Amino acid sequence: MSDIHRGHCFCKAISWQVVGSPIRSVYCHCTLCQRLHASPFIHTIHYPADHFKWTHAEPHADHFEKYPVLDKPWKSRIRCRHCGVMVGSESTKTNNYSVYGAVLERDEEGQIKSWEQLKPTAHMFYGTRYLDVNDGLPKWEGYEEQSRLFSAQG
Ligand SMILES: [Zn+2]
Ligand SMILES: [Zn+2]
Repeated sequence: MSDIHRGHCFCKAISWQVVGSPIRSVYCHCTLCQRLHASPFIHTIHYPADHFKWTHAEPHADHFEKYPVLDKPWKSRIRCRHCGVMVGSESTKTNNYSVYGAVLERDEEGQIKSWEQLKPTAHMFYGTRYLDVNDGLPKWEGYEEQSRLFSAQG
């Protein structure tokens, strides 16, 4: 199993790689992610900034836009300037990058590569979920380890 994991936007104008196991891999059901991604929930994977790098043509910043989140100005969402797909976010407060599982590289069968290393281990912000997920993973009302835990089965 390779320790380098790659992802790209829909049009492949932007791509990145992360190295090793993530700090955290979770499904996020917060209302910010729901709105910014127009999606019921997202799969977010956190890495320290020095484990992340852009791999598309330089200058990297020519191909993406950063959207600072209004009430969290230290956090920016990063999306492709060409196809508009959100590929990750950065936090200048924690010096972490979050990359989104849905844009990870797939194998010939369409399955995400290195799934065992990258798969989510919990749900966060389950309090504002669209739908119940019965996958047996821990479900936090807000942030992981910092909020009320719902039953693991529901
Ligand atoms: Zn693109
Ligand atoms: Zn979220």
